[in-house]
Amino acid sequence: MLDVRTGFLLWTIQAASLGALLIAVWLHRLKDRHFLLFGLGLISHASGLALVGARGMIPDFLSIQIANAVTLSAFAFFVGALRRFDGKTTPPWAVLPPLLWVAGNLFPFIRDDFSNRVMLYSLSAALGFGLMSVVIARGGTSSLRYRYILSGVWAIHVISNLLLAARTWRQDPQAFQDVGVNGFVVIVGITGFITAIVILAKLLIDRSEERLKELVRTDPLTGVYNRRGLLEVYERLRSVPFRERPLLAVIVFDLDHFKQINDTHGHQSGDAVLVEFARRATGLIPEGGVFGRSGGEEFAAILRVGEPRHAALVGETIRQSLAASPVAAPSAEIEVTTSIGIATMPAGSADLDRLLSGADRALYVAKDRGRNRCAVWTGDKILSVHTDTADLIDDQTDRQVAALRMLAQAASDEHDVLGS
Ligand code: GH3
Ligand code: MG
Ligand code: MG
Repeated sequence: MLDVRTGFLLWTIQAASLGALLIAVWLHRLKDRHFLLFGLGLISHASGLALVGARGMIPDFLSIQIANAVTLSAFAFFVGALRRFDGKTTPPWAVLPPLLWVAGNLFPFIRDDFSNRVMLYSLSAALGFGLMSVVIARGGTSSLRYRYILSGVWAIHVISNLLLAARTWRQDPQAFQDVGVNGFVVIVGITGFITAIVILAKLLIDRSEERLKELVRTDPLTGVYNRRGLLEVYERLRSVPFRERPLLAVIVFDLDHFKQINDTHGHQSGDAVLVEFARRATGLIPEGGVFGRSGGEEFAAILRVGEPRHAALVGETIRQSLAASPVAAPSAEIEVTTSIGIATMPAGSADLDRLLSGADRALYVAKDRGRNRCAVWTGDKILSVHTDTADLIDDQTDRQVAALRMLAQAASDEHDVLGS
């Protein structure tokens, strides 16, 4: 049979090694600070337990008050790590478990009484597990099933610690040997620890996979969706039951004379133009819509709209926002414009090939009509939208009003209706 001290030693070594391993992982990925916090939590847990295990060999104050404060500090690190994992900061209430212990020990009737100390420790630990249980369950929406399992495991720890406190209250033990080994508490402790480690590893793996998937759908230069990402969103947007927005719209953008920009200002400035265009356009896409780079100097937006002119309004607004002010590139301030082709279809019967070829045909008309303009494919005809002095308008709302006026004019102007 293992004696208690050896058990403490083994547990301490195991927790400390795992903590050191996580800190080593963090040193390779400094941005992922949750590894550091998990590591520090385990080291703090291990150091506290080592001090408890040294009872009798070191002063009692060190092996009781300090030891348990250090052990309970692990909860503050763990709460911080879980929050950090979900991109949040460590809340001040993370320190409540060790604080409760320290505060309780200011009272002599607790400090000098073994069973009162055990009760206080159990309550502090129950509080720590409770905080972790809530933080993991409510922290995010990824890997929800595993979050709930982990939350449940820590909720069982809460119950186990409360039971220990209640038993201590009833039996009033005066030393460790009187407490006896409670099978339930030991089993919960060991299986809970292992389960938590395995599930946390699963959450970390899921997170890495999500990041990889995100990378696969992102254009590295501009940070917007690439063609693959756009296709994924197209599938999603097609099936969303938006009753008040029954149409699926595809807007394609092709920067005008872009080759010339590269030739005149250099490739790096060309890149800066692409980045700036993506930035301006992304900010003007309505909620639920998506913007991406389909390749080279071509971009696309996919949205759900109520009528074709709503899509044209989005296209016009983006066109004007690019034309309104030059792009600050490394070599110069560059005047850039874009031509735009728009196609819409009822989402229920939407066909990507038809939408893309419709938008391309509209784009061709926009280029043919002198560039820096929008054209809309409506299924049987293509409307090219007039441009006027709207490019000089600075205010976004005024620009939208001007765009609407031009759209209305285009729809009633026979000369702008071309056969498809
Ligand atoms: P148009 O007005 O008819 O659209 O003419 P254009 O010059 O914009 O079109 P064209 O297709 O002839 O040229 C596109 C240029 O875009 C050619 C290519 O070198 C450049 N390009 C493609 N990808 C990138 C990129 O990532 N960075 C830079 N700087 N240039 C790129
Ligand atoms: Mg092109
Ligand atoms: Mg072009």
